[in-house]
Amino acid sequence: MFLNEKRIVIKVGSNVLAQPDGGLSVERIRQLTSQIATLQKSGYELVLVSSGAVASGRSLIQLSEKMDEVSQRQVLAAVGQVKLLNIYADFFQKSDMLCAQVLVTKEDFRDREHYLNMKNCITTLLDNNVVPIINENDVVSVTELMFTDNDELAGLVSGMVNASKLIILSNIDGIYNGNPKDKSSTVIPQISYGDKQFTQYVTSEKSNFGRGGMMTKCSMAHKVAGLGIAVQIANGTKDGILLDIIDGKPIGTSFIPKKTTSNIKKWVAHSDGFVKGTVFIDAGAVQALLSDTPTSLLPVGVLKVEGVFGKGDLIRICDRSGKQLGVGKAQYNSDKAEDLKRKKNQKALVHYDYLFLNHI
Ligand code: GLU
Repeated sequence: MFLNEKRIVIKVGSNVLAQPDGGLSVERIRQLTSQIATLQKSGYELVLVSSGAVASGRSLIQLSEKMDEVSQRQVLAAVGQVKLLNIYADFFQKSDMLCAQVLVTKEDFRDREHYLNMKNCITTLLDNNVVPIINENDVVSVTELMFTDNDELAGLVSGMVNASKLIILSNIDGIYNGNPKDKSSTVIPQISYGDKQFTQYVTSEKSNFGRGGMMTKCSMAHKVAGLGIAVQIANGTKDGILLDIIDGKPIGTSFIPKKTTSNIKKWVAHSDGFVKGTVFIDAGAVQALLSDTPTSLLPVGVLKVEGVFGKGDLIRICDRSGKQLGVGKAQYNSDKAEDLKRKKNQKALVHYDYLFLNHI
């Protein structure tokens, strides 16, 4: 898999941009944009995934407490996103640069054609030296189909643009080997792919302004590292942080990437929410899929087919007990899968290239 070594996705959390009393820290945005300008001048292609719309809206408009939560969030994001992008655009202009607003919803990642359209837009912006600033379209994403948070969105974008690195800027220094409030705790500098020891220290506490928390950040970072992309979690409120990271200074927590994965696998890996059906497979098939040899899912190992899916749809692959092993793209529809199940010498239901297993 070809990774673009100079292409980097930077995710900026609401807590980096928001001031303690609400409102945006214009100085922080100035600092970040000036570092991005420096990096662009030395040949890097940067994609920003920036939160902060809702936090920005909070300082601009006072809403009645009687208003329901969903409407409040819609209004705050709609008003706040304009301000957020204006500040970015003004600072980029000072460095003779252009930025572009790209608002997306989880739905946009659903089918491959739409996904490729989005990829085309973002890469074309990069080819024209424009910095894409991506955020979730909070004005319309209000259902359960919302991204967990912008960390998830940043992970998806990193895979989509073949970035070599994802930098997640938050307001803490990295992942600690204990409670971050304890003086004896220190930041874990590196986490190897597959090492999940650190999870014992991470709490599911949410951040003040954003939706995410350390737990979702870590599981996303792990997943992205599994796609071959290096992930670094660092404190975005520190001056010069981006330049220091690119200089290779040991800052924050780095997730060491696994060997790279194909583009199609990146898409499949993150499309879990859109599966159309489930197949349950026997122990032999489980063993074959989990072996070190790349293996496609053959109908002979399929015990049960659930749901109605068409050729090309994503399906969940579970063992006999219902434990999910992964997701894959079906090579034929559910009727045919039902006909062929348990039969030998048949075409694979999921080809290896379109299969993403959770453990990989
Ligand atoms: N999209 C939200 C915003 O701009 C932030 C989501 C998150 O906290 O991750 O305010």
